[in-house]
Amino acid sequence: MTSCLIVRRSRFSAAHRYWLEELSAEENRRRFGAAANIHGHNYTILVSMNGPVDRFGMVLNLSEVKQIIRREVSGQLDSQLLNETWEEFVRTLPTTEHMARVIFERLRPHLPVVRVQLFESEDLWAEYQGEAMQAYLTIADHFAAAHRLALDELSLEENTEIYGLCARTHGHGHNYHVEITVKGEVDERTGMLVDLVALQRLLKDKVLLPFDHTFLNKDVPYFAQVVPTAENIALHIRDLLEEPVRALGARLHKVRLIESPNNSVEVYTESFAPIA
Ligand SMILES: [Zn+2]
Ligand SMILES: [Zn+2]
Repeated sequence: MTSCLIVRRSRFSAAHRYWLEELSAEENRRRFGAAANIHGHNYTILVSMNGPVDRFGMVLNLSEVKQIIRREVSGQLDSQLLNETWEEFVRTLPTTEHMARVIFERLRPHLPVVRVQLFESEDLWAEYQGEAMQAYLTIADHFAAAHRLALDELSLEENTEIYGLCARTHGHGHNYHVEITVKGEVDERTGMLVDLVALQRLLKDKVLLPFDHTFLNKDVPYFAQVVPTAENIALHIRDLLEEPVRALGARLHKVRLIESPNNSVEVYTESFAPIA
């Protein structure tokens, strides 16, 4: 029988704060910064479900799926203070990655869920695929840079043959959008798989500051030898981040670089296994 992965979106708005009762107010503010204050997000959930296609041509009846997600998740969380809503969020801070895991577990008895993605904003989202405490967290940011695609050993004519307009002598630019996905174990108390502020600082220090508003071929030493195609930029970002992410206690999983609405590349730190 033919199987399909179907994805249902749901949205809710809720408040939360990162605040551990066992810490002093000062310590909470030092550790969590502005997130220690009660603040809110417009969350988007994507629930992926896998199953055979029935004689009606469906994996599941989407109107039932919609009702179940509303009854079990969005209807319970919408317009609430998450820290006080579910017992899972009392024990463990309602971070994006912990919430993705809890939503998965709450839906599991009712739906053939294989993945939950939870978007806190367009720059931060988490994913859980039912693997014990392991979850994925993605942060996104951008940099603007110029590049030229050409190999030194080739003539302009030969380079133009290969790279087209991208071989023009004085380069051209893109607003690069970069997403990095890390995976790790969700901490039972903080709900974090990595120190988010430290991860954001890492991306800024290793990638955004060195690359932003540069001519990559001339300003970033690595690209003096390596042609800065989107593929090579993404691979270099992976190599720059892999060890520092490990030092934060997580593992780099994926780098996605979007060069334009038409072109993007993804590189992984391990063999890529698409979801079943
Ligand atoms: Zn927040
Ligand atoms: Zn280009």
